Amino acid sequence: MSPRLFTGDRLVIATHNRGKLAEFKQLFGMTPLQLTTAGDHGLASPDETGTTFLENVTIKALYAAKGTGLPALADDSGLCVDVLDGAPGVYSADWAEEARDFSLAIDKVRAAMLDKLGGADAWAAGNRRAHFISVIMLAWPDGHTEWVEGRAPGQIVWPPRGTTGHGYDPIFKPDEDSVRTYAEMAEVEKNAISHRARAFAAIREKCFKLKAA
Ligand code: IMP
Repeated sequence: MSPRLFTGDRLVIATHNRGKLAEFKQLFGMTPLQLTTAGDHGLASPDETGTTFLENVTIKALYAAKGTGLPALADDSGLCVDVLDGAPGVYSADWAEEARDFSLAIDKVRAAMLDKLGGADAWAAGNRRAHFISVIMLAWPDGHTEWVEGRAPGQIVWPPRGTTGHGYDPIFKPDEDSVRTYAEMAEVEKNAISHRARAFAAIREKCFKLKAA
């Protein structure tokens, strides 16, 4: 069955984060779409109780679509480290604890990897492969959903490097760059290769036939 196309002119972004709204506005470019957040419609954030990216993105997208009566776009993302069997994965934000302290989360990744690899001496030759995942879902108020996944493969570096971006950016070196971490790239450079940009391009291709404004 072919995917359902988005045909309206109003879309809700299932987030309370103005930064995410700005990122999506940039990704949609100069289109006549009117974008609002779930928070703008007075909706609370649903509990992300899923154990996979797809489960969590489904919770967020359907909650926003049913709560607003409008099509809603949600994303869920995280860092998956091979030697940690995909952790922190869907728990990427949780590893930063209540305070959202990502230097703490980054230290936890390093400690868990050293434990698996067998100590600091084994680091250089050890498996440091990782990838970021972003799952983006478009949901309609009648419960229909379309979703896509974007991945950015790379490796974990130590020590952390760079000051741009957020979250785990200082320890993730994408395969597209021979040296730099995400946190050493300009935002526009990261956005050209990131997991979220790839997922966004895929959902745009699948469900949006947008005309320039
Ligand atoms: P969420 O998709 O907003 O729930 O984000 C989950 C978590 O994944 C974030 O809090 C970050 O810890 C991590 N994460 C997702 N994308 C990135 C990224 O591009 N750089 C660094 N960390 C990220």
